[in-house]
Amino acid sequence: MNIPRDDHRDAQHWAEADRAQDRQRAQELRWAATVYRQFYAGEEGRLGRGLEIALNEGVTFHGHQARVRSSSDPEVAYQVQETHCDCPDFGRAPGGRCKHRWAVFLTRVAAARLALADHPVAS
Ligand SMILES: [Zn+2]
Repeated sequence: MNIPRDDHRDAQHWAEADRAQDRQRAQELRWAATVYRQFYAGEEGRLGRGLEIALNEGVTFHGHQARVRSSSDPEVAYQVQETHCDCPDFGRAPGGRCKHRWAVFLTRVAAARLALADHPVAS
């Protein structure tokens, strides 16, 4: 039976597609970070750490809530809901824009741009 070989080829195909998608996603995340860095001068530190969290898939969505892994302690996660984050930095960050909120925001921008790329609007 040759099915295992076909399965293998299929698995390889999907693994390649996954890697291409990961590269595209990383590209979009970096693009979004570059764009928004220009509008939020002085927030490069938090924005950059938010980008790292997003690149490392530290954001998971549960409806309107997002769970964001702490960048310093992988055992810790914070909840981001609407404009609020329950981390200790939230109250200190300008506009409450802590790295977790940046991570959620960049993840959403990248996802929106990928969705647009996957479904081009016919002219
Ligand atoms: Zn936070």
